[in-house]
Amino acid sequence: CGIVGYIGARDSQHILLEGLKKLEYRGYDSAGVAIHTNAGLRLRKAKGRISELENRLKMQPLAGFAGIAHTRWATHGKPSDANSHPHTDNDMKISVVHNGIIENHLQLKEDLEQHGYRFVSETDTEVISHLIAHHYEGDLAATVRHAVGKIRGAYAIAVLSEHEPDKLVAVRWASPLIIGVGDGENFIGSDIPAILEHTRDVYILNDGEMAVLTCDGVELMTLEGNFIAKQLLRIDWDL
Ligand code: GLU
Repeated sequence: CGIVGYIGARDSQHILLEGLKKLEYRGYDSAGVAIHTNAGLRLRKAKGRISELENRLKMQPLAGFAGIAHTRWATHGKPSDANSHPHTDNDMKISVVHNGIIENHLQLKEDLEQHGYRFVSETDTEVISHLIAHHYEGDLAATVRHAVGKIRGAYAIAVLSEHEPDKLVAVRWASPLIIGVGDGENFIGSDIPAILEHTRDVYILNDGEMAVLTCDGVELMTLEGNFIAKQLLRIDWDL
């Protein structure tokens, strides 16, 4: 339902939580974050209100400069800690948040299980993290492209991987996603309020477009892997 992503020099935990709160008006049943820490990729998730997640993060903070976060409105699988996003692969190297529905998830799940991947949630989303793990060969953006080529449905997706912790990858089809451009930091949001406190310069992704974010820049490309130039939009309204 709601997506926030951050990469930069500031404490990502705080920025992600505050961003999720700005998306609360959309409704949700659970929330979670994945952050790239010194110890690797770490997750906190909680069914219920964002304050539940916040309490968990207070007790067990996650320090790191890159992260993704989600508020979930369940479509496949009941609201629960395990079904909350982010979802990961079995090696905990890849984390994914997703808005929308993967229509062919049962078929994909069957194929992936035959390859030995274990599913730990009841969501349609989890196939994405295993698909990326299955196809990863050293280029996260190319792998995400490849993986979304296999899925049908509506999606806005953000990916953070321990394989390439200096970047976030975002892609959309039939579910809104925007990229916020900052100074030495960049953002992903499913809606402008999530990031408006930090930047007013945004790219609005269209269907079939993806973005690769580092601290220093944003690259935009098509699902065929062709780089594209897009107009930066200046947001001149306030919340
Ligand atoms: N279909 C996904 C799920 O049920 C994502 C739902 C959403 O957009 O929050 O987990």
